[in-house]
Amino acid sequence: SAKAARKNSYHYYTKALRDQALKRMGLLSDLRTAIDEGQLFIEYQPIVDIQTKSIVKAEALIRWHHPSRGRIAPDEFIGIAEEFGLISEISNWVFAQVCTKVKRWRRHFGQFLQISVNTSPKQYADSDTCITHWLQYLLDTNTPANAIVLEITENLLMEGDDRISEKLFQFRQAGIDIALDDFGTGYSSISYLKKYPTDLIKIDRSFVNSMTEVSNDKVLCEAIIVMAKKLGISVVAEGIETKEQHYILSQMGCDFGQGYLYSRPVDAESFEGLLIAQHRQTATP
Ligand code: C2E
Ligand code: MG
Ligand code: MG
Ligand code: MG
Repeated sequence: SAKAARKNSYHYYTKALRDQALKRMGLLSDLRTAIDEGQLFIEYQPIVDIQTKSIVKAEALIRWHHPSRGRIAPDEFIGIAEEFGLISEISNWVFAQVCTKVKRWRRHFGQFLQISVNTSPKQYADSDTCITHWLQYLLDTNTPANAIVLEITENLLMEGDDRISEKLFQFRQAGIDIALDDFGTGYSSISYLKKYPTDLIKIDRSFVNSMTEVSNDKVLCEAIIVMAKKLGISVVAEGIETKEQHYILSQMGCDFGQGYLYSRPVDAESFEGLLIAQHRQTATP
């Protein structure tokens, strides 16, 4: 009967919710030890100059290798870390790793290289967050500020907090680049450009993905690129998987590309291998 079905689906619904809550609690307690036990690591995904296809940047992406569950995607645990106050500790760790690596890679492969770090809304919320300490950390460790890009997502900016824009201006003044991540997926992407300092726009991969099938998405990509150019902002297209997407975006004048076509995210050692290979290529004509 309909009533029984309703009851069943209700039952199913609450059970699913309960299972999900239990899973989250489990992950939370495991996450607390993950840092100390070295289960977290970082992969770097190359970002290429779209005209030459050479690697000029990379995005640092956190990974968790759980002892029994295996690999857990950041989308599954970053939210938990944010909610339960672990995000600062995790972010500090990521930031420190990135500083160490980028110094090394710049020394060996060129001063142009930049590594971008994802940041969470919570990190900007108070006046004394870890983000505030990052500038001091750069000084203490002798890391050039212009080697770092901070990625922020629109949902962060939706909070419309003046302290956030104040902080972003402060970072930018110190030489850090600011990138708007997942651009185009928020409610008022364009108004953020008016309010916040932006060096780089990352076109969300959902636009790039459907660009060759949905003509509107192609138009939107092009419009974003044209607009960015006029504003003096560089553009990264995310999630490039096919040569066709690469070709169209390069024709549109997009500056940088990131996606499986060039490389999947790889561990630090493999990323260094890519830099070495590229360095050799340019050194021997
Ligand atoms: P994001 O910042 O937008 O990162 C890009 C995501 O797209 C990454 O997923 C990357 O692996 C994936 N990707 C790159 N190229 C392609 C492609 O060609 N095709 C497809 N299908 N996917 C591609 P990932 O590593 O699972 O990260 C997911 C999200 O987790 C990130 O989205 C970011 O918002 C968050 N995240 C990752 N690391 C950190 C971190 O250290 N701190 C914070 N706060 N968030 C992080
Ligand atoms: Mg990102
Ligand atoms: Mg993104
Ligand atoms: Mg994202």
